[in-house]
Parts: sequence; C-alpha cells; structure tokens
Amino acid sequence: MGIVMISCPETQRAISTDIRVDRATFHSTPVFFSSTFCPLCRVKHEWFAKDAWVCDSGLADCDPSCESQVA
Ligand SMILES: [Zn+2]
Repeated sequence: MGIVMISCPETQRAISTDIRVDRATFHSTPVFFSSTFCPLCRVKHEWFAKDAWVCDSGLADCDPSCESQVA
C-alpha cells in the first residue's frame, strides 16, 4: 500500500492526499479526480489521477521520481 501524492500547483511541492491505495489498483482506475486540502496554500486543490503518483514510503516529501524507481 502507498499514499497518493500530488504536486501543489502553486509551490510545486509534493503533498500527500492521505488516500491509501496500492499501485496496481491506482493504475487500473486511471480516470478520476479529487480534491485535497493543501497545507501549504491552505486551499483545496483539484487534481486528476494522471497528475498524481503513489508513494510507498509515505514520506511527505516524496517526489514523482519515487514511483519510477520502484515501479
Ligand atoms: Zn498548494
């Protein structure tokens, strides 16, 4: 299981959506969108699954290269 991460459009920082999912499930449902409260901007950002990635380490600073390393 991993945590779905998105990139904040304002700060370009990785933020956690607090959504727990395993990578296979995440990639089998590629089209959905959600919104996540961003602690950096203090607003909700809407995002699409294609803009998100799954971080197995659960680190708040997990960046998109994390998934490509373990995929
Ligand atoms: Zn933000």
